[in-house]
Amino acid sequence: MTTCFNTSFNTFNLERFPQQKNHNLQAWDAADQYLLEHLYEQHTELKNKNILIFNDAFGALTLSLLEYHPCAVNDSIISQKAIIENISSNQLDIKKVDLLNSLSKYKTTYDYVIIKTPKTLDYLRYFIGSITHHIHSNTQIIVAGMVKNMPKVIWSILEEKIGETNTSLAKKKARLIFVKSEMKPNKPSPVQTFAQENTKFKIFNHVNVFSKQSLDIGTRFLLQNLPKLSGINNVVDLGCGNGVVGLNLAVLYPKAKVTFTDESYMAVASAKLTCEFNVKSLENCQFLVNNCLDDFAPNSVDLIVCNPPFHQSHSIGTHIALQMFKQSHKTLNKGGTFLVVANRHLPYYSHLKRIFGKVNNLAGNAKFSIYSMTK
Ligand code: SAM
Repeated sequence: MTTCFNTSFNTFNLERFPQQKNHNLQAWDAADQYLLEHLYEQHTELKNKNILIFNDAFGALTLSLLEYHPCAVNDSIISQKAIIENISSNQLDIKKVDLLNSLSKYKTTYDYVIIKTPKTLDYLRYFIGSITHHIHSNTQIIVAGMVKNMPKVIWSILEEKIGETNTSLAKKKARLIFVKSEMKPNKPSPVQTFAQENTKFKIFNHVNVFSKQSLDIGTRFLLQNLPKLSGINNVVDLGCGNGVVGLNLAVLYPKAKVTFTDESYMAVASAKLTCEFNVKSLENCQFLVNNCLDDFAPNSVDLIVCNPPFHQSHSIGTHIALQMFKQSHKTLNKGGTFLVVANRHLPYYSHLKRIFGKVNNLAGNAKFSIYSMTK
């Protein structure tokens, strides 16, 4: 599998993050190449222009445009880490990029806004709302994506919120949409809430958060089966999303320290809002944007609870779940417990058995199993 990314701007090695052995996925797609080809036609005009890049998964766009000092905005710390790693492994200058997260405030007005289509269209709406005061009537707004990731509604969103669109021909199954900056007034979409059934809890959700309108059915099953264990002082809600699992753990184990962690800035911010509203004191709660359990001390946690993800951006796979399983084993204290809720069709049982030696089927229904492992 090639890692050499070659465009008219530059040639460099580009890796996905987290790195996977034996995978056949590249760190860029034909939409990145198409967009860069288009931008190269006007590269003499890019000098001294303010460029904002939205949702660049592994740095293909950011590294190519690095000499123009772009600003790259992502909700995912994995994407930010990928950009940093790829810049440094190509001996480029990290100071040339301004890395922002999805909830950062923009500091300037942009002449170019380059958008890679995100998985969640509400997140696209949010992003457009957040740049309203940071574009001008000549800002070039270009949306790039693979045709399969571009439902028709994208055009309606762009026309309703920004302005007239013009679409390129498809090339290698990628398309570019050029959007006229008509300076329509917009606001970033607000945080949504829902009530957790049979409780007094109100759950807060930024737009890019998993199951933001109601409790996920797998999560519901997990919450119905949370065991009350003894000797639990340190708990992790791994892949916390809106924080509903960690909140219930904080109530079940009121004396324990609970860490809410997720790779999405919006998820961790949502979990914090959820706890601020529902928990009397945040003294025992900690919130961390992180890739899985990177940098957690080994043998430091008594209970880790996880409803694992099954995709990274647009691509589906179990590699993140597997990283979570391996790191959970390392991070747990001896005698500590790992709880996983999993869709029955996913091949998690055998992986967990290999890592932990023994897997208990704590509960099951037609769709889900809850596995409990002890280190
Ligand atoms: N715990 C929440 C719930 O049950 O509603 C969310 C579960 S959702 C199935 C999986 C979560 O894992 C998402 O919030 C996603 O952002 C997060 N996630 C995905 N990749 C991750 C990674 N590498 N490190 C940490 N969290 C990750």
